[in-house]
Amino acid sequence: MKKGCAFGTHRVIEPKGKLPQPATKIDNNMDIYDNEILINVQTLNIDSASFTQIKEQAGGDVEKIKEIMKGIVAERGKHQNPVTGSGGMLIGTIEKIGPAMEGKTDLKVGDKIATLVSLSLTPLRIDEILEVRKDIDQVDIKGKAILFESGIYAVLPNDIPENLALSVLDVAGAPAQTAKLVKPGDTVVIIGGTGKSGMLCLYEAKKRAGVTGKVICLGHSEDAMKRVRSANLADIYIQADATNAVEVMEKISEATNGEMADITINNVNVSNTEMGSILATKDDGLVYFFSMATSFTKAALGAEGVGKDVTMIVGNGYTKGHAEISLQILRESETLRKLYEELYA
Ligand code: NAP
Repeated sequence: MKKGCAFGTHRVIEPKGKLPQPATKIDNNMDIYDNEILINVQTLNIDSASFTQIKEQAGGDVEKIKEIMKGIVAERGKHQNPVTGSGGMLIGTIEKIGPAMEGKTDLKVGDKIATLVSLSLTPLRIDEILEVRKDIDQVDIKGKAILFESGIYAVLPNDIPENLALSVLDVAGAPAQTAKLVKPGDTVVIIGGTGKSGMLCLYEAKKRAGVTGKVICLGHSEDAMKRVRSANLADIYIQADATNAVEVMEKISEATNGEMADITINNVNVSNTEMGSILATKDDGLVYFFSMATSFTKAALGAEGVGKDVTMIVGNGYTKGHAEISLQILRESETLRKLYEELYA
C-alpha cells in the first residue's frame, strides 16, 4: 500500500506541490493510501454560496444542477465550485481505514460521520446523484470520498437527526467563533442573521453579550425576518439590503445612538456586503467575515478608503470545539431546534 502525506499532497495532480485545497485537480481514485480513510458517502451538504451559484447557473433546473455538480467533480476530483472556490461537507459511513491510522483515530469501520473539512479539498467520486434537496443545499448521492490523516470529522450524535446535524455542522465555525469573540456588554450586529449560520450566531451572541449587551439582527426578506423575530433571537431587528452600505450604516447608527457595533458578523451568501459590515462597526471594533462571498480586496481597500480602523477576521471554518458548540445550541434551544428541523432537516 502506498504511503500518503498527512495533508493529502500525494493526491494533487495539478499544480504539483500544492496542497489539495488550492489545487485545481486532485486524484479521486478510491484505492486508499496507508493513512487515508474511505467513506461511503450518503449526503453532500453544498456550501450555500456555491449552491446558490450552481442553482443560478442551472436556472433552478434539477437535472442541470446534477450535470454541473458531476462536471465539477469530473474536472477537479473534488466538489470545489470554480466560481466561488468553496465546497461544503458530507455525511457517510466509514468503509475502510488505512493501516497507518492505527492508534491515530478512534474511528471504526461502520461509524457514521460528518466530515468537517471542506469538500473543496476532499477526493470525491459521484457514481449517481439520487436526490437534490434544492431548498436546503443537500444532495444525496451514491459515491465515495477520502478523509486525509489531518482531516477533522464528527461522529454523528444519537440525539439529533442526521440531516439536521449535517446542516448545523456545515456552518459550525460561525457560532463557535461568535462564542469566542463576543464579551458581556458588547453591541453585536449579525448581517444575514436570518440564515442558517446567522441564527446560530444570534443565539450565541445573545448568550455571550448578556443582559448588558445588544444583539442586532440585520436581514433581508420579510418572511425570514418574521421567523427570527418570533423566535426572539435578537434585541433589535433591522430589515435592509446588506449590499447598500450607506443604508446599513444609517440604520445601525439609528439603532445604536450613533455608537455603532463592537462586533459585526457577516453571514450573507451574496457579494458586495464588505462595506456595509465595515461601516456598521465602530473604530477599533471587529468584523468577522464568515461569508464565502467576501472579497479580501474589497474589504481591505474599502476599510482604508473610508479611514476605518477595524480588525477584520477571515472566517476560518474551524475553531476548537466548533462541532460541540453548534450541536449544543440545538440541545439548549427548543425553539431553534424546531426551526432548524422545519427549515433544514
Ligand atoms: P443562508 O442560510 O443562505 O443565509 C444567507 C443569509 O444572507 C440569509 O439570511 C439571507 O437573508 C441573507 N441575505 C442575502 N442577501 C442579502 C442582502 N442583500 N442583504 C441582507 N441579507 C441578505 O447561508 P448560510 O448557510 O448561513 O451561509 C452563510 C455564508 O457563510 C455563505 O456565504 C456561506 O458560503 C458561508 N460559509 C462559510 C464557511 C466558512 O468556513 N467560513 C462555512 C460554511 C458556509 P434572506 O433569506 O432574507 O434573503
